[in-house]
Amino acid sequence: MAPSGSRSIRRGCKRVLYWIPVLFIALIVAWSYYAYVLQLCIGKTCSAVGLLAVVYLLVYHVVFVLFVWAYWQTIFTRPLNPLKEFHLSHSDKELLEREDRGESQQEILRRIARDLPIYTRTNSGAIRFCDRCQLLKPDRCHHCSVCDKCILKMDHHCPWVNNCVGFSNYKYFMLFLAYSLLYCLFITATDLQYFIKFWTVSLPDTQAKFHILFLFFSASMFSVSLASLFIYHCWLVCKNRSTLEAVRAPVFRHGTDKNGFSLGFSKNFRQVFGDEVKFWPNVVFNPKYEHWFYFESLRKSVLSHIAIRFQHMN
Ligand SMILES: [Zn+2]
Ligand SMILES: [Zn+2]
Repeated sequence: MAPSGSRSIRRGCKRVLYWIPVLFIALIVAWSYYAYVLQLCIGKTCSAVGLLAVVYLLVYHVVFVLFVWAYWQTIFTRPLNPLKEFHLSHSDKELLEREDRGESQQEILRRIARDLPIYTRTNSGAIRFCDRCQLLKPDRCHHCSVCDKCILKMDHHCPWVNNCVGFSNYKYFMLFLAYSLLYCLFITATDLQYFIKFWTVSLPDTQAKFHILFLFFSASMFSVSLASLFIYHCWLVCKNRSTLEAVRAPVFRHGTDKNGFSLGFSKNFRQVFGDEVKFWPNVVFNPKYEHWFYFESLRKSVLSHIAIRFQHMN
C-alpha cells in the first residue's frame, strides 16, 4: 500500500479515537438522566411526591437542556483560523525557501509583517511563523498539533469536547462549565436527602438504591472538579488571558507583558460574552465572533498599553 494511503488510514483511526472521551461524557449524561428522572423522581423507591417532584423535574430539565446545548456548541463550533492575508504568497514561499540563513528569512518575514496587524514576537524577538501552515501567526494565535491548524486566541485543545477551545467558542466553553456545574450541584443538592435516608432509615432494597447512591457520589465529585476549572477560567476572563498565555506571557515589541491584552475587568468580560446582557447566558447566539472583532480587540489592547507606557514615560 502507498505510504500516503496508510497515513490517511492512521489519521482516520486517530480521528475516531478522539471521539472516545466525548462518547464517555455522553454515556454518563444519559445515565444521569435515567437515574435522576426515572429512578429518583418517578421511581417508587424514594420518589419526591406531588408538587415537589414536578418542581424537581421542571428545574432539572431546564438546566439539562442548557448544559447539553452549551456542550454541543462547544464541540461543533468551528475554531477561527487566520485570514488568508497571513498566509505566505507563492512568490514569498519561494523566496523563503531559497534563503537558508535564519536572519535573511526573518528579513523577508519582517517585510511581510509590516502590512499586517501583528504586535507580538517570539521570545528571541523574531516574527512568529508557523512552518506547518506556512503563515505569519496573528497575535494570540497558536498551532494546534491535534487539529493541525493555527487557531485564533487558542486557549487549549480539550479532549472532552474533541475541539480546540479558542476565540470562536470560548463563550460556549464558559457556559458549558457554568451549566454543567449547575447541573451537578442541583443533582447533589436534591439527591442529598435520599443519600442521608440510605444511611439512616434505609431505603427499600431495590435497584434504585445503587443509582441514587452512585448519582450522589459522581455529581458531587464532578462538582468539585468543574468548580475549580470554572473559577480558574473566570480568573482568566477577568485578566484577558488564555491558558497558554497564563503559562507563558506574550512577548511584545517592548518586551514580555502578562497583562498585554487586558482592558480592565468590564471590557475583558464583554470581549468574551458580548456587550448585551441578554446574550451573556445565551447558548444559541455568539455575538461578534468574526475576524474584524478579533483584530479590533487586539488593536484596542495594544493602543491602550502604548498610551499607558507613554504616560509612564512622561
Ligand atoms: Zn499552524
Ligand atoms: Zn485543536
